[in-house]
Amino acid sequence: MSYTVAKGNQRVDPDQVGEAGKIPEGVVDLRSDTVTRPTPEMRRAMAEAEVGDDVYGEDPTVNRLERRAAEIFGKEAALFVPTGCMGNLICIKVWTHHGDEVICEERSHVNLYELASMSAIAGCMPRVARGEDGILTWKQIEAVIRPKIYYDSQTALVCLENTSNMAGGTVYSTAQVEDICDHAHKMGLKVHLDGARIFNAATALGDHVAVMTRKVDSVMFCLSKGLGAPVGSMIAGTKAFIEKARVYRKMFGGGMRQAGVIAAASLIALEKSPARLHIDHENAKRLAEGIAEIPGLSIDPNKVRSNIVIFDCSKTGKTAVELCDALHPHGVWAQDTALYSVRVVTHCDVDRAGIERALVVLKEVVARTQRAGAS
Ligand SMILES: *Cc1c(COP(=O)(O)O)cnc(C)c1O
Repeated sequence: MSYTVAKGNQRVDPDQVGEAGKIPEGVVDLRSDTVTRPTPEMRRAMAEAEVGDDVYGEDPTVNRLERRAAEIFGKEAALFVPTGCMGNLICIKVWTHHGDEVICEERSHVNLYELASMSAIAGCMPRVARGEDGILTWKQIEAVIRPKIYYDSQTALVCLENTSNMAGGTVYSTAQVEDICDHAHKMGLKVHLDGARIFNAATALGDHVAVMTRKVDSVMFCLSKGLGAPVGSMIAGTKAFIEKARVYRKMFGGGMRQAGVIAAASLIALEKSPARLHIDHENAKRLAEGIAEIPGLSIDPNKVRSNIVIFDCSKTGKTAVELCDALHPHGVWAQDTALYSVRVVTHCDVDRAGIERALVVLKEVVARTQRAGAS
Protein backbone atom coordinates (compact mmCIF):
# COMPACT_ATOMS: atom_id res chain seq x y z
CA MET A 1 0.00 0.00 0.00
CA SER A 2 1.30 3.47 -0.74
CA TYR A 3 0.37 6.83 0.71
CA THR A 4 0.85 10.34 -0.51
CA VAL A 5 2.35 12.64 2.08
CA ALA A 6 -0.56 15.01 1.85
CA LYS A 7 -3.12 14.58 -0.91
CA GLY A 8 -2.02 17.47 -3.07
CA ASN A 9 -1.59 19.63 0.01
CA GLN A 10 2.15 19.70 0.10
CA ARG A 11 2.87 22.87 -1.82
CA VAL A 12 6.25 23.92 -0.54
CA ASP A 13 9.22 22.18 -2.08
CA PRO A 14 11.07 21.09 1.08
CA ASP A 15 14.40 22.00 -0.53
CA GLN A 16 13.31 25.45 -1.61
CA VAL A 17 11.71 26.99 1.43
CA GLY A 18 14.68 29.19 2.21
CA GLU A 19 16.60 29.70 5.41
CA ALA A 20 13.82 30.87 7.66
CA GLY A 21 11.33 28.33 6.31
CA LYS A 22 9.23 31.21 5.05
CA ILE A 23 6.27 30.95 2.74
CA PRO A 24 7.62 32.04 -0.67
CA GLU A 25 7.32 35.77 -1.25
CA GLY A 26 3.95 36.81 -2.64
CA VAL A 27 2.21 33.52 -1.89
CA VAL A 28 -1.18 33.65 -0.20
CA ASP A 29 -1.30 30.38 1.71
CA LEU A 30 -4.92 29.70 2.62
CA ARG A 31 -4.66 25.92 2.97
CA SER A 32 -4.95 26.05 6.74
CA ASP A 33 -4.23 28.18 9.78
CA THR A 34 -1.67 25.53 10.75
CA VAL A 35 0.81 27.17 8.34
CA THR A 36 1.27 30.22 10.59
CA ARG A 37 4.89 30.97 11.52
CA PRO A 38 6.03 32.03 14.99
CA THR A 39 6.42 35.79 15.43
CA PRO A 40 9.81 37.38 16.25
CA GLU A 41 8.53 37.81 19.84
CA MET A 42 7.81 34.08 20.04
CA ARG A 43 11.22 33.21 18.63
CA ARG A 44 12.89 35.44 21.22
CA ALA A 45 10.89 33.87 24.03
CA MET A 46 11.85 30.42 22.76
CA ALA A 47 15.51 31.33 22.73
CA GLU A 48 15.34 32.61 26.28
CA ALA A 49 12.96 30.04 27.78
CA GLU A 50 13.70 28.61 31.20
CA VAL A 51 13.51 24.84 30.87
CA GLY A 52 13.67 21.60 32.83
CA ASP A 53 12.54 18.01 32.42
CA ASP A 54 8.79 18.12 31.98
CA VAL A 55 8.37 14.36 32.42
CA TYR A 56 9.62 15.04 35.97
CA GLY A 57 7.26 18.03 36.14
CA GLU A 58 10.31 20.30 36.32
CA ASP A 59 9.93 22.56 33.29
CA PRO A 60 8.98 25.96 34.74
CA THR A 61 7.75 27.33 31.40
CA VAL A 62 5.50 24.34 30.72
CA ASN A 63 4.19 24.57 34.28
CA ARG A 64 3.45 28.26 33.78
CA LEU A 65 1.65 27.55 30.50
CA GLU A 66 -0.45 24.81 32.08
CA ARG A 67 -1.41 26.99 35.05
CA ARG A 68 -2.28 29.88 32.78
CA ALA A 69 -4.39 27.73 30.43
CA ALA A 70 -6.30 26.25 33.38
CA GLU A 71 -6.91 29.76 34.71
CA ILE A 72 -8.14 31.10 31.35
CA PHE A 73 -10.51 28.16 30.92
CA GLY A 74 -11.69 28.20 34.53
CA LYS A 75 -10.65 24.55 34.93
CA GLU A 76 -8.66 22.99 37.76
CA ALA A 77 -5.79 21.84 35.58
CA ALA A 78 -4.40 21.69 32.05
CA LEU A 79 -1.83 19.63 30.17
CA PHE A 80 0.46 20.60 27.29
CA VAL A 81 0.36 18.00 24.51
CA PRO A 82 2.28 17.79 21.23
CA THR A 83 -0.76 17.79 18.93
CA GLY A 84 -4.49 18.23 18.89
CA CYS A 85 -4.92 14.67 17.68
CA MET A 86 -3.08 13.35 20.72
CA GLY A 87 -5.09 15.67 22.97
CA ASN A 88 -8.39 14.36 21.63
CA LEU A 89 -7.21 10.75 21.84
CA ILE A 90 -6.07 11.18 25.44
CA CYS A 91 -9.45 12.64 26.41
CA ILE A 92 -11.34 9.88 24.62
CA LYS A 93 -9.14 7.28 26.32
CA VAL A 94 -9.74 8.72 29.79
CA TRP A 95 -13.53 8.82 29.37
CA THR A 96 -14.09 5.41 27.77
CA HIS A 97 -13.36 1.68 27.93
CA HIS A 98 -12.64 -0.64 25.02
CA GLY A 99 -15.88 -1.46 23.22
CA ASP A 100 -17.61 1.83 24.05
CA GLU A 101 -19.16 4.13 21.49
CA VAL A 102 -18.31 7.79 21.04
CA ILE A 103 -20.99 10.00 19.50
CA CYS A 104 -19.62 12.60 17.13
CA GLU A 105 -20.65 14.57 14.07
CA GLU A 106 -20.17 12.80 10.75
CA ARG A 107 -17.63 15.36 9.45
CA SER A 108 -15.83 15.79 12.77
CA HIS A 109 -12.05 15.71 12.99
CA VAL A 110 -12.09 12.79 15.46
CA ASN A 111 -14.11 10.79 12.95
CA LEU A 112 -12.33 11.66 9.72
CA TYR A 113 -8.81 12.91 10.31
CA GLU A 114 -7.33 11.12 13.31
CA LEU A 115 -6.51 7.81 11.61
CA ALA A 116 -9.34 6.05 13.47
CA SER A 117 -7.19 6.35 16.60
CA MET A 118 -10.27 6.18 18.82
CA SER A 119 -10.73 2.65 17.42
CA ALA A 120 -7.13 1.64 16.77
CA ILE A 121 -5.82 2.81 20.15
CA ALA A 122 -8.71 3.59 22.50
CA GLY A 123 -10.79 0.65 21.25
CA CYS A 124 -13.93 2.72 20.68
CA MET A 125 -16.47 2.91 17.87
CA PRO A 126 -17.39 6.30 16.48
CA ARG A 127 -21.16 6.60 16.31
CA VAL A 128 -21.86 9.45 13.95
CA ALA A 129 -24.82 11.77 13.68
CA ARG A 130 -25.35 14.43 11.03
CA GLY A 131 -25.88 17.94 12.33
CA GLU A 132 -27.03 20.87 10.24
CA ASP A 133 -23.90 22.89 9.43
CA GLY A 134 -21.92 20.49 11.62
CA ILE A 135 -23.78 21.54 14.76
CA LEU A 136 -25.38 18.69 16.71
CA THR A 137 -28.51 19.07 18.78
CA TRP A 138 -29.41 16.93 21.78
CA LYS A 139 -32.26 15.42 19.74
CA GLN A 140 -29.79 14.17 17.13
CA ILE A 141 -27.46 12.83 19.81
CA GLU A 142 -30.23 11.18 21.79
CA ALA A 143 -31.32 9.28 18.69
CA VAL A 144 -28.00 7.42 18.49
CA ILE A 145 -27.46 6.65 22.18
CA ARG A 146 -27.43 2.90 22.76
CA PRO A 147 -30.02 1.35 25.05
CA LYS A 148 -28.67 -0.17 28.23
CA ILE A 149 -28.85 -3.76 26.99
CA TYR A 150 -25.97 -6.10 27.69
CA TYR A 151 -25.55 -7.24 24.07
CA ASP A 152 -25.30 -3.66 22.74
CA SER A 153 -22.08 -1.72 22.75
CA GLN A 154 -22.51 1.21 25.11
CA THR A 155 -22.34 4.95 24.59
CA ALA A 156 -19.76 6.54 26.88
CA LEU A 157 -18.92 9.92 25.42
CA VAL A 158 -20.23 12.73 23.28
CA CYS A 159 -17.60 14.63 21.35
CA LEU A 160 -18.45 18.12 20.06
CA GLU A 161 -16.33 20.28 17.77
CA ASN A 162 -16.35 24.08 18.10
CA THR A 163 -15.76 25.61 15.63
CA SER A 164 -16.84 22.85 13.29
CA ASN A 165 -14.00 22.67 10.82
CA MET A 166 -15.42 20.74 7.88
CA ALA A 167 -18.79 22.44 8.13
CA GLY A 168 -17.00 25.71 7.37
CA GLY A 169 -16.01 26.99 10.79
CA THR A 170 -19.55 27.05 12.14
CA VAL A 171 -20.09 27.83 15.80
CA TYR A 172 -22.00 26.23 18.67
CA SER A 173 -23.62 28.78 20.93
CA THR A 174 -22.86 28.32 24.61
CA ALA A 175 -26.54 27.53 25.21
CA GLN A 176 -26.39 24.70 22.64
CA VAL A 177 -23.29 23.20 24.27
CA GLU A 178 -24.80 23.49 27.76
CA ASP A 179 -28.08 21.91 26.69
CA ILE A 180 -26.15 18.91 25.34
CA CYS A 181 -24.01 18.70 28.50
CA ASP A 182 -27.03 18.84 30.82
CA HIS A 183 -28.82 16.05 28.99
CA ALA A 184 -25.68 13.94 28.52
CA HIS A 185 -24.71 14.22 32.18
CA LYS A 186 -28.20 13.20 33.26
CA MET A 187 -27.66 9.99 31.30
CA GLY A 188 -24.21 9.41 32.77
CA LEU A 189 -22.36 10.38 29.58
CA LYS A 190 -19.28 12.58 29.46
CA VAL A 191 -18.83 15.42 26.99
CA HIS A 192 -15.48 16.22 25.39
CA LEU A 193 -15.05 19.38 23.37
CA ASP A 194 -12.67 19.36 20.43
CA GLY A 195 -12.01 23.06 20.65
CA ALA A 196 -9.13 23.12 18.20
CA ARG A 197 -10.44 26.58 17.26
CA ILE A 198 -12.29 27.45 20.47
CA PHE A 199 -10.82 30.96 20.48
CA ASN A 200 -12.25 31.51 16.99
CA ALA A 201 -15.61 30.37 18.35
CA ALA A 202 -15.21 32.73 21.33
CA THR A 203 -14.45 35.60 18.96
CA ALA A 204 -17.50 34.80 16.82
CA LEU A 205 -19.75 34.64 19.90
CA GLY A 206 -18.18 37.51 21.79
CA ASP A 207 -18.09 35.11 24.71
CA HIS A 208 -15.32 33.93 27.05
CA VAL A 209 -13.86 30.42 26.68
CA ALA A 210 -14.32 29.79 30.41
CA VAL A 211 -18.05 30.42 30.07
CA MET A 212 -18.30 28.49 26.83
CA THR A 213 -16.63 25.37 28.27
CA ARG A 214 -18.02 25.55 31.81
CA LYS A 215 -20.06 22.35 31.51
CA VAL A 216 -17.87 20.17 29.29
CA ASP A 217 -15.86 17.48 31.06
CA SER A 218 -12.76 18.07 28.98
CA VAL A 219 -11.63 20.49 26.32
CA MET A 220 -8.78 20.38 23.81
CA PHE A 221 -7.56 23.46 22.00
CA CYS A 222 -4.75 24.09 19.51
CA LEU A 223 -2.01 26.63 20.02
CA SER A 224 -0.54 25.84 16.60
CA LYS A 225 -3.41 27.13 14.44
CA GLY A 226 -4.91 30.60 14.55
CA LEU A 227 -3.01 31.42 17.73
CA GLY A 228 0.22 31.10 15.76
CA ALA A 229 2.41 28.98 18.04
CA PRO A 230 4.77 26.65 16.19
CA VAL A 231 3.79 23.45 18.01
CA GLY A 232 1.35 22.27 20.61
CA SER A 233 -2.15 21.87 21.94
CA MET A 234 -3.65 21.71 25.42
CA ILE A 235 -6.30 19.80 27.24
CA ALA A 236 -8.07 21.03 30.35
CA GLY A 237 -10.42 19.60 32.97
CA THR A 238 -10.49 18.59 36.61
CA LYS A 239 -7.31 17.76 38.52
CA ALA A 240 -8.29 14.08 38.65
CA PHE A 241 -8.89 14.09 34.89
CA ILE A 242 -5.52 15.67 34.12
CA GLU A 243 -3.74 13.17 36.40
CA LYS A 244 -5.10 10.35 34.25
CA ALA A 245 -4.46 12.29 31.05
CA ARG A 246 -0.81 12.70 32.02
CA VAL A 247 -0.44 8.91 32.18
CA TYR A 248 -1.93 8.43 28.71
CA ARG A 249 0.13 11.27 27.26
CA LYS A 250 3.25 9.36 28.31
CA MET A 251 1.81 6.03 27.12
CA PHE A 252 1.11 7.52 23.68
CA GLY A 253 4.67 8.82 23.41
CA GLY A 254 3.89 12.44 24.22
CA GLY A 255 6.05 12.92 27.31
CA MET A 256 8.32 15.77 26.28
CA ARG A 257 11.44 16.83 28.11
CA GLN A 258 12.65 20.47 27.80
CA ALA A 259 9.33 21.42 26.21
CA GLY A 260 9.61 24.89 27.72
CA VAL A 261 11.22 25.92 24.44
CA ILE A 262 7.89 25.50 22.67
CA ALA A 263 5.74 26.33 25.69
CA ALA A 264 7.36 29.79 25.73
CA ALA A 265 5.95 30.53 22.28
CA SER A 266 2.63 29.03 23.34
CA LEU A 267 2.37 31.39 26.30
CA ILE A 268 2.63 34.35 23.96
CA ALA A 269 0.13 32.77 21.57
CA LEU A 270 -2.31 32.20 24.41
CA GLU A 271 -2.02 35.71 25.86
CA LYS A 272 -1.86 37.79 22.72
CA SER A 273 -3.39 36.04 19.74
CA PRO A 274 -7.06 35.71 20.71
CA ALA A 275 -7.46 39.49 20.61
CA ARG A 276 -6.59 39.63 16.91
CA LEU A 277 -8.72 36.74 15.61
CA HIS A 278 -11.54 39.10 14.62
CA ILE A 279 -9.26 40.31 11.80
CA ASP A 280 -9.11 36.78 10.38
CA HIS A 281 -12.88 36.54 10.64
CA GLU A 282 -13.37 39.84 8.80
CA ASN A 283 -10.99 38.60 6.11
CA ALA A 284 -12.88 35.32 5.82
CA LYS A 285 -16.14 37.22 5.44
CA ARG A 286 -14.63 39.36 2.69
CA LEU A 287 -13.26 36.26 1.00
CA ALA A 288 -16.66 34.54 1.11
CA GLU A 289 -18.46 37.59 -0.24
CA GLY A 290 -15.96 37.84 -3.09
CA ILE A 291 -16.22 34.13 -3.86
CA ALA A 292 -20.03 34.33 -3.92
CA GLU A 293 -19.73 36.83 -6.79
CA ILE A 294 -17.53 34.59 -8.93
CA PRO A 295 -19.60 32.77 -11.57
CA GLY A 296 -19.27 29.02 -11.07
CA LEU A 297 -18.45 29.13 -7.36
CA SER A 298 -21.09 28.79 -4.68
CA ILE A 299 -21.09 29.73 -1.03
CA ASP A 300 -23.46 31.40 1.39
CA PRO A 301 -21.36 34.17 2.99
CA ASN A 302 -23.95 34.55 5.75
CA LYS A 303 -22.89 31.18 7.09
CA VAL A 304 -19.25 32.22 7.46
CA ARG A 305 -18.74 33.04 11.11
CA SER A 306 -15.06 32.41 11.78
CA ASN A 307 -11.88 31.90 9.75
CA ILE A 308 -12.90 28.98 7.52
CA VAL A 309 -14.53 29.31 4.12
CA ILE A 310 -15.62 26.21 2.21
CA PHE A 311 -17.07 26.73 -1.25
CA ASP A 312 -18.46 24.52 -3.97
CA CYS A 313 -16.80 24.51 -7.37
CA SER A 314 -18.91 21.89 -9.18
CA LYS A 315 -20.32 24.42 -11.65
CA THR A 316 -16.84 25.28 -12.91
CA GLY A 317 -16.53 21.82 -14.43
CA LYS A 318 -13.33 21.36 -12.44
CA THR A 319 -12.81 19.18 -9.42
CA ALA A 320 -11.52 20.80 -6.25
CA VAL A 321 -8.08 19.24 -6.81
CA GLU A 322 -7.95 20.59 -10.35
CA LEU A 323 -8.97 24.04 -9.20
CA CYS A 324 -6.36 24.06 -6.38
CA ASP A 325 -3.71 22.90 -8.86
CA ALA A 326 -4.70 25.68 -11.26
CA LEU A 327 -4.50 28.31 -8.50
CA HIS A 328 -1.14 27.16 -7.21
CA PRO A 329 1.18 28.60 -9.91
CA HIS A 330 -0.48 31.98 -9.33
CA GLY A 331 0.58 31.97 -5.68
CA VAL A 332 -2.82 31.23 -4.16
CA TRP A 333 -2.87 28.02 -2.18
CA ALA A 334 -6.14 26.40 -1.22
CA GLN A 335 -7.11 22.92 -0.13
CA ASP A 336 -9.62 20.47 -1.55
CA THR A 337 -11.84 18.98 1.15
CA ALA A 338 -14.16 16.91 -1.06
CA LEU A 339 -14.54 16.21 -4.77
CA TYR A 340 -16.05 19.65 -5.43
CA SER A 341 -15.31 21.44 -2.14
CA VAL A 342 -12.44 23.84 -1.64
CA ARG A 343 -11.42 25.19 1.76
CA VAL A 344 -9.66 28.48 2.34
CA VAL A 345 -8.63 29.44 5.85
CA THR A 346 -7.62 32.92 6.98
CA HIS A 347 -4.92 33.51 9.58
CA CYS A 348 -2.35 35.98 10.89
CA ASP A 349 0.08 35.43 8.00
CA VAL A 350 -2.44 36.63 5.39
CA ASP A 351 -3.49 40.28 5.39
CA ARG A 352 -6.34 42.06 3.60
CA ALA A 353 -4.17 42.73 0.54
CA GLY A 354 -3.51 38.99 0.31
CA ILE A 355 -7.23 38.30 0.49
CA GLU A 356 -7.93 40.75 -2.34
CA ARG A 357 -5.16 39.20 -4.41
CA ALA A 358 -6.55 35.72 -3.81
CA LEU A 359 -9.95 36.90 -5.06
CA VAL A 360 -8.48 38.42 -8.23
CA VAL A 361 -6.57 35.21 -8.97
CA LEU A 362 -9.54 32.99 -8.16
CA LYS A 363 -11.82 34.97 -10.45
CA GLU A 364 -9.31 34.91 -13.31
CA VAL A 365 -8.47 31.21 -12.95
CA VAL A 366 -12.14 30.18 -12.80
CA ALA A 367 -12.99 32.38 -15.80
CA ARG A 368 -10.12 30.87 -17.77
CA THR A 369 -11.16 27.30 -17.01
CA GLN A 370 -14.69 28.13 -18.10
CA ARG A 371 -13.51 29.75 -21.33
CA ALA A 372 -11.38 26.68 -21.96
CA GLY A 373 -14.39 24.48 -21.24
CA ALA A 374 -16.59 26.46 -23.64
CA SER A 375 -14.24 26.26 -26.59
C1 LIG B 1 -6.42 20.60 13.62
C2 LIG B 1 -7.49 19.96 14.35
C3 LIG B 1 -7.24 19.03 15.35
C4 LIG B 1 -5.86 18.56 15.77
O1 LIG B 1 -4.90 18.67 14.85
P1 LIG B 1 -3.31 18.43 15.10
O2 LIG B 1 -2.80 18.67 13.73
O3 LIG B 1 -3.15 17.05 15.57
O4 LIG B 1 -2.85 19.43 16.08
C5 LIG B 1 -8.31 18.50 16.02
N1 LIG B 1 -9.56 18.89 15.74
C6 LIG B 1 -9.84 19.80 14.79
C7 LIG B 1 -11.25 20.22 14.57
C8 LIG B 1 -8.82 20.36 14.04
O5 LIG B 1 -9.11 21.25 13.11
